[in-house]
Amino acid sequence: MTELDLIIELHRDTQRQGPGSLESTLKALNSVDINTKDALRIADIGCGTGAHTLELARTFESAQITAIDLFPIFLDRLNQQAAEAGLGDRIRTLEASMDDLPFEQESLDMIWSEGAIYNMGFKNGIAYWAQFLKPKGWLAVSEITWITEERPAELEEFWMAEYPEVAPPSVKIRQLKEAGFEVVNYFVLPKSDWFHYYDELSKKIEDFEGEFSRHQDADVQEMAAGIAEAYRAEINQYKQFSDYYSYGFYIARKDS
Ligand code: SAH
Repeated sequence: MTELDLIIELHRDTQRQGPGSLESTLKALNSVDINTKDALRIADIGCGTGAHTLELARTFESAQITAIDLFPIFLDRLNQQAAEAGLGDRIRTLEASMDDLPFEQESLDMIWSEGAIYNMGFKNGIAYWAQFLKPKGWLAVSEITWITEERPAELEEFWMAEYPEVAPPSVKIRQLKEAGFEVVNYFVLPKSDWFHYYDELSKKIEDFEGEFSRHQDADVQEMAAGIAEAYRAEINQYKQFSDYYSYGFYIARKDS
């Protein structure tokens, strides 16, 4: 078992793999001005187990959605949930990396991505994904964002080491413009979107620790303890600094 296997194990049964909620997904959806009955082609990138993918399929009733993630274990669960919800024929899962996508140029009506673009970086991600959208196609993406003008140095240092692209919304909006998008709406995910995810994760951490503290391989035990500790630290950090950062949800439209 590798460290990555353990991290996936910790997240496989959570509703989402990052901060977000049905309400926020619907709020973003409401900013998208498309006929919901059209035969749209949509990609949901870094979908995880795809709570929001199911919502996209419900809203866009004739759309074909390709849900992409690096890890088949998440995609298996999405397939199962899609089948249970009667949406299996319109959601196709694809194991691929977000920076190496198999779509044709200008073939998609919309790209959706919640809590995932940081894996390739926002600036790179929007520039790379833009080519797959049709002219006037839609991009809805959530990204870590500073939500106040100023912040404690300690927090800034942490994020500069972790993900130096964290920036105020004005920077993200400018980057979207430079990549050929018009930003139609932007909002900040509420704290409840984080606490819902972290509450669920906290419970999983306890089960996970219990399970892996009894693992036969001492290295796995140690890795699991380290992962549990790292996620606890992440949760505590959010509790302490939740006034300063969140995910911004950016809804944008490709110029031409
Ligand atoms: N969108 C989901 C999951 C967010 S967590 C939600 O909001 O619940 C980030 C997701 O990105 C994880 O599912 C992770 O497996 C996926 N991921 C990480 N690196 C990736 C890559 N290079 N390509 C595609 N998906 C990736």
